[in-house]
Amino acid sequence: MRVYNFSAGPAVLPEEVILDVQKNLFDYQGNGLSVMEMSHRSATYQKIIDDATAAMKRIMGLGDAYEVLFLHGGASTQFLNIAMNFCPADKVANYIDTGTWSTKAWKEAKKIGKKVHIAATSADKDFTYIPKTWELSENPAYLHITSNNTIRGTEWKIDPETPADVPLIADLSSNFLSKPQDFTKYDVMYGGAQKNIGPAGCAFVIIKKTMIDKIQPGLPTMIDYRTHIEKGSMFNTPPAFTIYVIGEVLKFIEANGGLVEMEKRNIEKANYLYNIFDNSDFYNGTVVPEDRSLMNIPFLLPTPELEKKFIAEATANNMIGLKGHRSVGGCRASVYNSQKIESAKALAEFMLEFEKNNK
Ligand code: PMP
Repeated sequence: MRVYNFSAGPAVLPEEVILDVQKNLFDYQGNGLSVMEMSHRSATYQKIIDDATAAMKRIMGLGDAYEVLFLHGGASTQFLNIAMNFCPADKVANYIDTGTWSTKAWKEAKKIGKKVHIAATSADKDFTYIPKTWELSENPAYLHITSNNTIRGTEWKIDPETPADVPLIADLSSNFLSKPQDFTKYDVMYGGAQKNIGPAGCAFVIIKKTMIDKIQPGLPTMIDYRTHIEKGSMFNTPPAFTIYVIGEVLKFIEANGGLVEMEKRNIEKANYLYNIFDNSDFYNGTVVPEDRSLMNIPFLLPTPELEKKFIAEATANNMIGLKGHRSVGGCRASVYNSQKIESAKALAEFMLEFEKNNK
């Protein structure tokens, strides 16, 4: 029996994908071996990564103006790579700080000696909202945002505008491909696969070709994005199996109506929970309504004891992953693309029942 999995990542994957991977696990499409054992230099594997790249571009509405990379090291390694590749010594790396992940991103830039400017922050209200205005420094190298704060449950509802000569860079880890977006507004996009598009072990990095000339000279080989662009993400052995599963998840997204349908489902799922917050003084959402995430939904119960009881009873009812991030406590339900509508409905019903019994 499968559980209702509300984990923030690694997270739920489409059942169809898991079953298809299982079917092909021992013998991938009659090749006589699994993808785990296959040379990444084989024609069969080349087609797997090419297909994943093409699907990613189709879903995002990107043409040949962008490069898609699949790299090791997760999103966290990109905090460093972004600053090293795109912030020259005489320019200033600009960040909008919406909590934990964007904080880590700018701290990493600072740590390697880059000049950093916080163009806006929501720290004044404990990162419970997304700043609506920001002020760039002089001579900005780029503006970096985190499109969805996985821990706090805030989400950008717009794609911020920057002056034409200021690249927009985004960590899209936790709401990637969850809604239609004009991705061409972004110059560099990256994130960990393990929330919306696959298992852990791989970061996607999508770079507008006009950014390639801005890459700093003299970078160590593995940090220099040109290395990976020139070698099609295969300078060294890529996270081959994860990329294969990502490709299968991308097929699932396309076969299920693309980003328009993903957003429709995501709104329906999130509304099950947000409607409860709005009609209850037992469950309290922690985010200002206009910035609520469709992906990660944090909430508090009246006491920490009740939260403990809630999580224990949810687990007994087959619902896992509801504990809030260790840095903020409380509860959190993550309802990424692959989360079925029935899971969100089941959780909402459980929450109402729990409230009735514990009020
Ligand atoms: N950015 C965001 C928004 C995240 O949610 C996470 C992980 N939860 C990260 C970055 C870090 O990702 P990774 O674990 O792949 O380094």
